[in-house]
Amino acid sequence: MCIYFEFTLTLSFNIFTMKKLTTILLLTIFWSFTNAQSPYVLVLGVAQDGGYPQVGCKKVCCQAVWEHKVPKQTVSCIALIDPISQEKWVFDATPDFTEQIHLLNKTTQNEGNISGIFLTHAHIGHYTGLIYLGRETMGAKNTKVFAMPKMKTFLENNGPWSQLVSLQNIDIQAIEEDKPVVLNERIKVIPFRVPHRDEFSETVGYKIITPNKTLIFIPDIDKWQKWNQSLVDVVKANDILLLDGTFYQDGEIARPMSEVPHPFISETMDLLKDLPLAQKRKVHFIHLNHTNPILQSKSKERKSLIKSGFRVVTVGERFEMR
Ligand SMILES: [Zn+2]
Ligand SMILES: [Zn+2]
Ligand SMILES: [Zn+2]
Repeated sequence: MCIYFEFTLTLSFNIFTMKKLTTILLLTIFWSFTNAQSPYVLVLGVAQDGGYPQVGCKKVCCQAVWEHKVPKQTVSCIALIDPISQEKWVFDATPDFTEQIHLLNKTTQNEGNISGIFLTHAHIGHYTGLIYLGRETMGAKNTKVFAMPKMKTFLENNGPWSQLVSLQNIDIQAIEEDKPVVLNERIKVIPFRVPHRDEFSETVGYKIITPNKTLIFIPDIDKWQKWNQSLVDVVKANDILLLDGTFYQDGEIARPMSEVPHPFISETMDLLKDLPLAQKRKVHFIHLNHTNPILQSKSKERKSLIKSGFRVVTVGERFEMR
């Protein structure tokens, strides 16, 4: 009787344990499947338009890079990848396009065509990589290029970009301020205007929306005060922010910095200083000028930035949009 009871008890315990283990196993498989299938953003470059090192720079900032003691950094760029549809979009076409597309293809193990390129504006670090789509190199066929009205007209009416249009290397998709571009059933992208030196085009930032996360990409903007939005509110309302970190502080370059009125990283950190740590950790700086001490891994400025809870993007870094 006693043995029978113990046997039944052990058996039911084992069945219970097995059921529990199976549930955990199934949940784990489901979780890793969902993770592997979620869209993500991949960082392809972190430097300001001129790259790092910058042409002709003989100052200490670029010295170690010229001497190959620290790695060079490619120009600010991100990619958005959907593992389900195998689509991949690039945000800005930089002078480092060749290297960046190689990294994108290698990381995604997908040599297929780029599904589209979203342009922020017509400053050299953000659109000149389009030349690689032309006849002399890739000879691309109707690669979609998402551009705001002035940017579109600029490309259509000025060589060599106009040739990309006439030879149908690129197929310009007109986008409008605050109007969502639906990429597929999981992903939407919204361009929004930001104040900047708009000599040839408007300047936009992008909001990437997936079912569970939003990411804000603003590589170039003038002072936050000139924007019609509150940065604090934008940080609170989104999950990941990649923001203009061109300069760390005033006096960093030898010409009047009012000519290039980016928000200093020190100003952005100050503006967000009262936010709780969890909010600050959403903020990542990108588009770093060669003079920016944040590029130096051991600088006191970089250490203090990290200590305050903010972050700096690195090439190859992934932001899961799950
Ligand atoms: Zn720029
Ligand atoms: Zn330099
Ligand atoms: Zn710019």
